[in-house]
Amino acid sequence: MASAIMLTGCGADTATNEDASVTVMVVQSSDQLSVDKMVWTKQVEKDCGCTIKWQRVDANSFQQQRSTILASESVPDISISGFGYDEAQKFPYFEDLAQHLDDMPNVKEYLEQIPTARTLTENENGNMYVLRSYMGKGYAVPAQYLMINKTWLDKLGLDLPTTWDEYEQVLEAFKTKDPNGNGKQDEIPLDLRKLDTGFFGWWNPFLLLNSLGITTHFGSGPASQGIYVSNGTVGNFMIDARFRQVIEYLHTLMDRNLIPKDALTKDISKYSAELNSDGKTPLVGSAFGWGASDFGTTFEDQYVALPTLKANASDPESNLTWDASGDTYSFTGGISMSAKTKNKEAAYKIINSLFSEKLSVQQFRGSIPEWVTDEGNHRYKVSERFWDTSTMGTREAIEGGFAGWIPDNVEWEDEINIDRQKKMNDAYLDDYANIDATRDVMPANARPTSEQLTTLSNNNTAIFDYAITKIATWIVKGGIDGEWDEYAKQLKALGIDDNVAIWQEAYDKATKN
Ligand code: MG
Repeated sequence: MASAIMLTGCGADTATNEDASVTVMVVQSSDQLSVDKMVWTKQVEKDCGCTIKWQRVDANSFQQQRSTILASESVPDISISGFGYDEAQKFPYFEDLAQHLDDMPNVKEYLEQIPTARTLTENENGNMYVLRSYMGKGYAVPAQYLMINKTWLDKLGLDLPTTWDEYEQVLEAFKTKDPNGNGKQDEIPLDLRKLDTGFFGWWNPFLLLNSLGITTHFGSGPASQGIYVSNGTVGNFMIDARFRQVIEYLHTLMDRNLIPKDALTKDISKYSAELNSDGKTPLVGSAFGWGASDFGTTFEDQYVALPTLKANASDPESNLTWDASGDTYSFTGGISMSAKTKNKEAAYKIINSLFSEKLSVQQFRGSIPEWVTDEGNHRYKVSERFWDTSTMGTREAIEGGFAGWIPDNVEWEDEINIDRQKKMNDAYLDDYANIDATRDVMPANARPTSEQLTTLSNNNTAIFDYAITKIATWIVKGGIDGEWDEYAKQLKALGIDDNVAIWQEAYDKATKN
């Protein structure tokens, strides 16, 4: 495959003959200190016995630069959060790291201890051109929940709702009974993020499918295309009667002014502003999101996660599920190495150093001892100022964009995000118990062939162009009764059943033996 493409570039900008340096490009978010100024990088340099040229690239501009770099046939010696599995499969520029695990004992141990890390990026020939990072067991959560203002419920003398009907009644009370106590009927009972147009993204209201026995996986994988698995059988919820039920329910809520009429199209910035309100008087009663801190730190304590609601009071508990993305949310960022790197031995040492416990911890939450205290015996304490918004731009951490492995025996203190996630996630433990991790979830290594991926991509463009407008119209204006059959027929004509067959094949291949 590699030989079929003529390589003419020589990577002259990333390494020169006269020095033995290694260029490490790090794609960073704009609110982080530039990587070359982070103190922990000195240890990596010491470990490799080489000179490292740290190269910071802004995440926003990298979106455009990525294709230019790939077209130039010259990728940096090492890229952190630069390239993913698909790109590394398509472009033959990357070193097969699976061949060099003996040069990287930390990586070798990582892949042994966390098998999913291997299946995530190993292709069918056993090549690994990219390694994903692992944030640790504290992030084995879906990071998407339905939250509700418990302070308002208490004030109104209401219990946590357990069914769609009860939830609607609670929202009605939020609307009419002034739970924020400012004498105005200004409450937004349920706020929704706008719908993505070409896929189902994070924090979308179709998480309610979990009320009806469809286990969602919106954090990764083909759930973004409507694909789900139930007892080993793949389906697409976009043409499932249960999806229709969720749309009808959302329409009922919107029709009763329990969801703002502009919710599905309004800017994310306006949505966030509503969640955060003025920092004194909360406005929003309920929302789908990452966690209670979505509402701002002053309101954070008021919100709790709602266990999966029953669609009907008579539904069996065993029918309830919740988003299963906890199997992949811990995996993030990633690292790749150019096959043309001149100083390969040093590059392996760099990767090995980054995947050590100490360097992983420091990349994630900052240099020791300035930002993180090493308490010994795999215990680390994050400094208070790491969480202070005023330190943004000076934090010595590349956070979720890091290249490393935080082993499951690491214990954190004041890792506030883990504590935040645990609080939310614990609400769903009974719901998770109804999910069969193999029979109800698309495995991370289910991969259609490149030809099939093209078919999926083409079909989905047409499917979503047509469907999302319909779905949004039904939620806002209703009318699904007279149009559903025609819509389902149309999606079949656009190849939705072919997509299901492709994913069934990928599922079967990934789960056999
Ligand atoms: Mg009010």
